[in-house]
Order: sequence, then structure tokens, then C-alpha cells
Amino acid sequence: MLSEKLIKAIAEIPDFPKPGISFKDITPILANPDLHAELVSSMAEWSRPLKPDYIIGIESRGFMLGFALAQKLGVGFIPIRKPGKLPRAVYSEDYDLEYGSATVQLHKEDLQPGCRVIIHDDLLATGGTAEAAVKLCAKAGVNVVGVHFIIELAFLNGRKLLPEGTHILSEVTY
Ligand code: AMP
Repeated sequence: MLSEKLIKAIAEIPDFPKPGISFKDITPILANPDLHAELVSSMAEWSRPLKPDYIIGIESRGFMLGFALAQKLGVGFIPIRKPGKLPRAVYSEDYDLEYGSATVQLHKEDLQPGCRVIIHDDLLATGGTAEAAVKLCAKAGVNVVGVHFIIELAFLNGRKLLPEGTHILSEVTY
């Protein structure tokens, strides 16, 4: 089963980047061509019925598989980035992280109001990042038809920060 293969591949690093955090490292998935191909195919199967116009990936670990998914589906990819990275006019959202606080930004003119998007990130922890991404999409007037994660830390209840009824898939839950 895909989820079992993913769990075996994901490296868990205790106390990184600070004491008390068990960091989930997805880079072994990226290094394994059979596994990332199977993962992207499975993500595409889930995504197709949602008919997205774009995949939105969250910096930075949401870029790799987010872009691969967009390419597999034949749709565009739009990055959500940290401040100071996007050169044109942006929407901004501040939020709290499992470790620290942050801001995310989205280019204003890249999404047409009313279009359908799937947001992708590597991991759902407290939900602040995904919530900020959803808020950016609301500012852009687009329709979030799905939110996808490789990993969900269910004990942190991040899902509760996403709007009720949001279509969410996490490949692996801890
Ligand atoms: P959150 O906003 O708390 O849901 O945190 C999600 C973001 O922080 C994602 O972009 C993850 O890449 C990163 N993150 C948070 N906790 C972890 C963790 N335990 N292991 C790896 N990445 C994490």
C-alpha cells in the first residue's frame, strides 16, 4: 500500500529544528523514483475529479510534488512564497507556525477570479500555513476545490483551521 511505503521512506528526526519537534523529512521520497511516481499518480487520481485549473504549492516543500502534480494533470502551477521573493504585486497573510510565525504571499494577477485550485503542501501540522494559503486564495477570489498533504500530524488538529467542508487528502497520518 502506498501509505505504508511512504511511512517507511519518511525519515523522522527528533528535536529538529528545535527541541520537542519531531521533523518529518520527505526527501527520501523524492530520492526514490518508483515511490515518487506512484505518489504523484495517486495524487493525480484524487485531483482529477476535482477539475483544478491550477495547483498551488506552498514554499518550499510544497513546490516539488506540487509542480509534479500540475505537470501530470496538465494544469498550471502557482507558488505561494515567503515575503520578498515574488517580484510583482502580492496578497499577504501572516500566521502562526508549529515553530515560530511567518507570512506567505501570492502574486495578485496570476489567478483568474472563479478559477478552481488545489493547494498542496508537504505537511499539515497546526494548520496555520494551510489556513493562510486558503485566505490568500479567498483574497484572489478563487475556488479552493481541494487541499492535499503528504503528511498530517492529526494530533495537532490542523484541519479545524480549514473552512468546513474543505476536501482534504493526507497520504499519511501520524
Ligand atoms: P503548520 O502551519 O503548523 O501546519 O506547519 C506546516 C508547515 O510547517 C509545513 O509547510 C511544513 O513543511 C512545516 N512543518 C511543521 N511541522 C513540521 C514537522 N514536524 N516536520 C516537517 N515539517 C514541518
